[in-house]
Amino acid sequence: MAARVIDGNAIAGRVREELAARVRRLRERSGVVPGLAVLLAGDDPASHVYVRNKQRACAQVGIASFRYDLPATVTTAELVDTIHALNGRDDVHGVLVQLPLPPQVGMRQVLESIEVAKDVDGFHLYNVGGLVVGEPVFPPCTPYGVLELLAHEGIGIAGRNVVVVGASNIVGKPLGLMMMHGDATVSICHAKTRDLAQFTRLAEILVVAAGVPGLVTAEMVQTGAVVIDVGINRVPGSSRVVGDVDFDGVRQKASYITPVPGGVGPMTVTMLLKNTVTSAERSCLRSGALKVPRWA
Ligand code: NAP
Repeated sequence: MAARVIDGNAIAGRVREELAARVRRLRERSGVVPGLAVLLAGDDPASHVYVRNKQRACAQVGIASFRYDLPATVTTAELVDTIHALNGRDDVHGVLVQLPLPPQVGMRQVLESIEVAKDVDGFHLYNVGGLVVGEPVFPPCTPYGVLELLAHEGIGIAGRNVVVVGASNIVGKPLGLMMMHGDATVSICHAKTRDLAQFTRLAEILVVAAGVPGLVTAEMVQTGAVVIDVGINRVPGSSRVVGDVDFDGVRQKASYITPVPGGVGPMTVTMLLKNTVTSAERSCLRSGALKVPRWA
C-alpha cells in the first residue's frame, strides 16, 4: 500500500493558528506584541524570497517584523553594531540573520553577537551547546519542524532506529542530537559514508537532508519506514523544486513520506514563529509584564 503523505502545509497551518491565539493572549494580558528582526545582507534572490516569506508568516500570526536590508559590502562590525542595537530593544524578541552572508563577513562573530535570549534561529554557540545537553534555549527551526511533523502524525521516536542522511550544522547534526534526546538510536551519514544504503535500510525513521536530488531510492528503504525529505533542490531551468528522495518510488514502500514542496519546508518557518512567540512570553515573564497565573 502506498505511504500516507504527511501534509506539512496543513500541520503548519494548525500550529500557526495556535500561535496566533498565543499572540492574542499575550497582547491582551501584557500589551506586548512579539517582534522579529530579520537582517539581510546582499542581493541573493533566494534569500530575498525566504525573508519575504518569513515576514508574511509573521504577519499571519500577529508578530511584528522589522527588516534590515544591508548592502553586499557590509562589514562584520556594521552587522554586529546593528545586532547590538536590536538586542537592546524591548519590542524585538527575536533576531535572525539570513544566511549565507557575504564572504567578507565573519559569520560566527555575527551570530555570537545575538543575545542568547533572542537567538530564535538557535545558531548561537551557547544554544548549540545547550542542544548537546538537551537544554537548548531555542531548538533550531528545521530539526524542530521535523520533530513537530512526527509528533502531529503520532509517530513516536523512542527506541526507534533513526538514520539521518546529512550532517550539516543547521539540519543533520542538531536533528541527530534532538532524536537522541528523544531516546532514538541514531546514525548520521554524510558524503564520505561508505555504502549509504546499508545504513538507510536499517532506518525505521529515515530523514534525508543532503541537498542531492533523488539520492534515496526505493531499494534503499525498508518496507514500512517513515521517510522525511528535508531536501530542497531547484530543477535547473524551471521554478520547480524536488527533494532528496525519489518520491514516487519510495512512496510505494514507506508507511509515511513527506512531499517536496509541502512537507518540511512550511514547518521550518512555523517553528521560527513559535520560537519568537516563546521568546516574547519569556521576556514578559522576566519583566513582570505577564504574571504567572496562580493555577499554572
Ligand atoms: P549542507 O550544509 O550542504 O550539508 C549537506 C550534508 O549532506 C553534508 O553533511 C554532506 O556531507 C551530506 N551529503 C552530501 N552529499 C551526500 C551524499 N551523496 N550522501 C550522503 N550525504 C551527503 O546542506 P544543508 O544546509 O544541511 O541542507 C540540506 C538540504 O536540505 C538542502 O537541499 C537544503 O536546501 C535543504 N534544507 C531544507 C530546509 C527546509 O526548510 N526544508 C531547511 C534547510 C535546508 P559532508 O558533511 O560529508 O559534506
